[in-house]
Amino acid sequence: MSMKKIIIANWKMNPQILDEALRLAKGLLARSLPKNAEIVIAPPFVYLELLKKNCGKEIKLAGQNISFAERGAFTGEISGLMLKNLGCDYVIVGHSERRYKMGETDEMINLKIKEALKSRLTPILAVGEREKDDDIIQILTKQIRGALGGVEASEMSRLIIAYEPVWAISRPSADIASALSQTASQCPDTPDHALSAALLIKKIIGNLYGADWATNLPVLYGGSVSEENASDFISQNGISGALVGAASLELEKFVKIIKAAEINE
Ligand code: PEP
Repeated sequence: MSMKKIIIANWKMNPQILDEALRLAKGLLARSLPKNAEIVIAPPFVYLELLKKNCGKEIKLAGQNISFAERGAFTGEISGLMLKNLGCDYVIVGHSERRYKMGETDEMINLKIKEALKSRLTPILAVGEREKDDDIIQILTKQIRGALGGVEASEMSRLIIAYEPVWAISRPSADIASALSQTASQCPDTPDHALSAALLIKKIIGNLYGADWATNLPVLYGGSVSEENASDFISQNGISGALVGAASLELEKFVKIIKAAEINE
């Protein structure tokens, strides 16, 4: 049985102006988006409301982050309920840039997953090793166990995991003036390796929650996915879609990635 592929655009801290964010979203809407793929944009928080008004039902929205707390004195934080009330269906939790640049720990990520579930958001838990020769079994096991401590099996149907090897994520251009331009990682991943990591993630989930949850868990791939390689990753049976960074900021490239999902349904 084929499952709907999920393609998520992680815009990170881009674009710098609202008009450009609208142009990108409206450009996507103007294309006939495949009915058999779930298209999600994770924009900076400040664009969520406007995108909700302009994206209709065809494009879903995700927060890029969520507070570990429900409400209160947490200056600069955004709660799960705020995201839900703005129209988000998803939230990315544990992205490597938050783990390693903002110091997020497994404990914080665990609280964030619980806040997301409590707020009726689908968490997209990002996991992945930093270096190519890191011990992937040990790292993914630690990250997944750490993130899901205390999460009930009954909540598993609302979880997505994105495998994002940090060594394969694209790097920002050295030229600060062109903040949008990112170069693909010098160390690209292969579809075979991505698939083996996705199966490892399912095995870890299977050990924690049982084989049925593992089979049904959507595992996405993220790491310099481009219009050229998207099909190679998405076509793998154990990979349910892609989390796309740099290429999602260029309309034509992102449209081609979405088409790859349609073909590989
Ligand atoms: C990401 O960081 O979530 C990501 C997938 O980035 P990129 O596609 O640019 O490697």
